[in-house]
Amino acid sequence: MLTVIDHPLVRHKLTLLRKTETTTGEFRRLAREISLLLGYEVLRDLPLEPITITTPMEEMQAVQVQGKKLCFISILRAGEGILEGMLDLVPAARVGHVGLYRDPVSHEPVEYYFKVPDAMEERLTVVLDPMLATGHSAVAAVTKLKQAGAKSIKFVCLIAAPEGVKAFEDAHADVPIYAAGLDRQLDEHAYIHPGLGDAGDRFFGTK
Ligand code: URA
Repeated sequence: MLTVIDHPLVRHKLTLLRKTETTTGEFRRLAREISLLLGYEVLRDLPLEPITITTPMEEMQAVQVQGKKLCFISILRAGEGILEGMLDLVPAARVGHVGLYRDPVSHEPVEYYFKVPDAMEERLTVVLDPMLATGHSAVAAVTKLKQAGAKSIKFVCLIAAPEGVKAFEDAHADVPIYAAGLDRQLDEHAYIHPGLGDAGDRFFGTK
């Protein structure tokens, strides 16, 4: 269940994001803008609740988003790069963090941090990780979130590799994947090609 969000603005901004010469500041701004655009699509079925408001003309029955029912989960550290745009859309959403790093040899995820909001079983859980490469981290994070009670989960990335999509779907067929782009393949170091390099390094300017 992969949805590539191919809005022209997403495609244009993704092109800029990929370029080697894009600076750290521009990269941050673009990642934020793209994630906001992705969030707009991903949150299309966000539950609403009725609210009575008063306009300058009269009282009316309106609707508002049930902010407390949504939670974003950032897979550290690169997930932070697409969290801001999501929070621009839903500032009241709860946020959890899953700390995983890739073992440089096995490429398997190693967990070092896990903190999520309460009542996960009642929330729409949107998991954020910019690069769906091998899928190992995403699979491990979603497995942990299900163990913590999450039932309704969506996964959002900027770029997916076919290998990652397959691994994720094999493990979590019930979790839809949303991406701004689907790339060609992984290399022997589990980097996506053509990709954008190391998303965390580019977002934080650590390389
Ligand atoms: N993580 C990244 O940051 N980039 C890749 O290409 C793959 C995994």
